[in-house]
Amino acid sequence: MIKKLLQRVFSKKDKPAKHEVAKQNGHTKKRVDTSGKRISNQTHRIDRRLLSTAAIKTTEGLQKAGFEAYVVGGAVRDLLLKKRPKDFDVATDATPEQVNRVFRRSRIIGRRFRLVHVMFGDETIEVSTFRGSHLGDTDDNQVADSGRILRDNVFGNQEEDAVRRDFTANALYYDPATEDILDFHNGVADIQAGILKMIGDPVTRYREDPVRMLRAVRLSAKLGLKIDPNTESPIPKLAELLGDVPPSRLFDEMLKLFLSGHAIQSAVQLRKHGLHHGLLPLLDVVLEQPIGAKFVNLALKNTDARVLAEKPVSPGFLFATLLWHEVLVAWQRYQKQGNRPIPALHMAMTEVSDIQAEKLAIHKRYSTTMKEIWGLQPRFEMRVGKRPFGLLEHPRYRAAYDFLLLRCESGEVDMELGEWWTKFAEAQTEERLTLLNTVPPSNNPEPRSRRRRRRKPSA
Ligand code: ATP
Ligand code: MG
Repeated sequence: MIKKLLQRVFSKKDKPAKHEVAKQNGHTKKRVDTSGKRISNQTHRIDRRLLSTAAIKTTEGLQKAGFEAYVVGGAVRDLLLKKRPKDFDVATDATPEQVNRVFRRSRIIGRRFRLVHVMFGDETIEVSTFRGSHLGDTDDNQVADSGRILRDNVFGNQEEDAVRRDFTANALYYDPATEDILDFHNGVADIQAGILKMIGDPVTRYREDPVRMLRAVRLSAKLGLKIDPNTESPIPKLAELLGDVPPSRLFDEMLKLFLSGHAIQSAVQLRKHGLHHGLLPLLDVVLEQPIGAKFVNLALKNTDARVLAEKPVSPGFLFATLLWHEVLVAWQRYQKQGNRPIPALHMAMTEVSDIQAEKLAIHKRYSTTMKEIWGLQPRFEMRVGKRPFGLLEHPRYRAAYDFLLLRCESGEVDMELGEWWTKFAEAQTEERLTLLNTVPPSNNPEPRSRRRRRRKPSA
């Protein structure tokens, strides 16, 4: 592997220059790659082993076909910070059709701006053609009155591609073959100084795309970078622009934020910058509920720990925790109105998830999991006869049990209940029968529905 790499790097000199290869391939588009600062491995010290083979194969394939190709964006930034990137994007001067022709296992996706997904085994590399900017265009219907960019779909050269990216740290191009970074906006120095800085005028850039405010907060929390003062100061004043952003886009960004492994820190920062208010009903719930704060904090801590330990996290579980106290409040209200506990819980669940579904595009598969987890909670209290055995067999038992433990830890229900279920799940059949006898009678209500039904005729 190392030998191959050395051969490749050193044999470069003997190869024809890139533009000659391009000509041989009939690809004669003008290139701009001189205005970026070239930073060699001796300075940036990226550990090439952190790159995925798929990313290397993609840039190699394109370069062999005579195109320029670089690993770009978040992956380079993460590599500089010695973090293993979770996905790799490649930028190239080849058009989507040309990329598609280079790789057998690839497909063009997207209507607005077409990208190519190149597949190697189960890894997918997203390849985008250098993009330009509309801002010089005379056709101004590309920009909304607030300054928000509505369309962003013209090809450009590498320099233009760099300038339309958000932060200097995200505008770096790494060539795995030469191991050089092309840096158009001083991003390497900013990362080394621990700073997240907007390219261009921050106010204009936030007006073009308000989601960049959320990205500033999310990336600074995730990467431990300090937001540059000029990049930070306009945020509270412009926060309301997020109201114009389509909910599905906000939802995607919020999911990234909560599943980043730094959810707690992100939530604190959102609040500090005034970005949570009215932004999404869900965020208000998370950050402004006094009773639920402890539970939500525990849930976010738990999610962070799982993400950092590279364990799977389910968005359905996360939303179930974030919204639980909304459900509890509605549940009590429906019971006070005279509904029996279980139907009241189902009414509360429907109410809470409908409100969220309307304003936030929560995907149906997440809301189904969420409702299953909530709906199983009362069944943990029914520790008689065959019921606990049935619950153990339920496909969502594990998630519902983890959820119960959070409720115990937050003080909402007695610790005894969680501990009992831990023992019950681990025990053999006979021990389980013994455990059933240890349940204190007061904690073992006869299923309410049946008791009530018997009383009904006399009412
Ligand atoms: P993460 O590590 O969370 O994936 P990322 O920076 O890679 O962070 P992506 O959404 O994967 O985020 O975006 C890839 C790249 O595209 C970014 O690094 C940046 O260069 C560019 N980009 C993404 N969103 C924007 C935006 N709203 N405005 C400008 N450039 C953006
Ligand atoms: Mg990314």
